Amino acid sequence: MTFSTRMAQALDARRAADGWRQRRLVTRNDTRTLEVDGVTYRHFSSNDYLGLSQHPAVIAGWRQGAPGAGASGHVTGYSRCHAELETRLAEWLGYPRALLFISGFAANQAVVHLLAQKNDRLIADKLAHASLLDAASHTPATLRRFHHNDVMSLTQRLATPCDGGSLVITEGIFSMDGDSAPLAAIADATRRADGWLMVDDAHGIGVVGEQGRGSCWQQGVRPDLLVVTFGKAFGVSGAALLCSEAAADYFLQFSRHLIYSTAMPPAQASALLAALHEVQQGDALRQRLNDNIQRFRAGAAALPWRLMPSQSAIQPLIVGENGAALALSQRLAQAGCWVSAIRPPTVPPGTARLRITLTAAHQKEDIDRLLEALHDAAGE
Ligand SMILES: *Cc1c(COP(=O)(O)O)cnc(C)c1O
Repeated sequence: MTFSTRMAQALDARRAADGWRQRRLVTRNDTRTLEVDGVTYRHFSSNDYLGLSQHPAVIAGWRQGAPGAGASGHVTGYSRCHAELETRLAEWLGYPRALLFISGFAANQAVVHLLAQKNDRLIADKLAHASLLDAASHTPATLRRFHHNDVMSLTQRLATPCDGGSLVITEGIFSMDGDSAPLAAIADATRRADGWLMVDDAHGIGVVGEQGRGSCWQQGVRPDLLVVTFGKAFGVSGAALLCSEAAADYFLQFSRHLIYSTAMPPAQASALLAALHEVQQGDALRQRLNDNIQRFRAGAAALPWRLMPSQSAIQPLIVGENGAALALSQRLAQAGCWVSAIRPPTVPPGTARLRITLTAAHQKEDIDRLLEALHDAAGE
């Protein structure tokens, strides 16, 4: 089959399944509101959970750095901002070392690709992020998946013999369900099997745990490899791997993602230093976010769609079919609320959903208007 035929077939199939993904041109976005095609909506699809993308200190931080690193960190791209950010992240999260990556996607690919070799096995939660599962399926190691948040299922996978190393992979807070992994039990099972634990805490860092240190800190767990990302609660972009001295040295020596890619812009590292400060001092923001979460959950309990049992900023409402999820999303947009519908393959077939995200930037009236629109749609 030629490339053109294959593309045409795949595109037709996607259209037919109501699965077409449409980018929308956003002309203004202040986390609380969003302007699309000249219309302003209350914005319930942002991962900027603390509203830091709008914070004056973060914006000022960005202006203090150069727009480009000019080279990979191994050549001349490693600046004072990068070094200071790595040191502060490592101290804050209680690790010997931190290494910066250009994105969470890149960090996950780098870790999985570098570690997983022949005879090793990767044991990942079924709902782990595409960046982890994708990477895992392209290594010479065996990929096994365990049932979502199911420690028994993990233990069974770990019990089968393996000649190489075992890397257990999970998330702190799951991106499409909003629930938390039982990290202490997972860490225990992993340790007993002599494996390593990798946690991707994209949605927990900054949001939960003392000073916003994330899911692992909150649950008293220190995984061998912790990936935190800065495109969500930090309000910027980028990621870091927290690990031991030896692992950091190994990554610096051998990770092609670090060696053959331009370092994060110094401006971004500088903005992230400011964002880190705001996250550490962010108890009031986290309180406001939590108040919004509780207000939403109380008001959404009587809706006819299944609200996932999530205590996080991610509050998914399971609709089922793709078309129904899209229709509900459009109905909410008519009522002035922007909530993206998430469909397979991002989520399992038959579980298309509205992925409602709440932030510290929302006011009580925003939550109330969303609830009102949902109840109106339910009544129709
Ligand atoms: C968003 C996300 C990523 C990717 O991070 P980026 O910095 O956006 O590339 C990785 N893992 C999880 C769980 C995510 O939600």
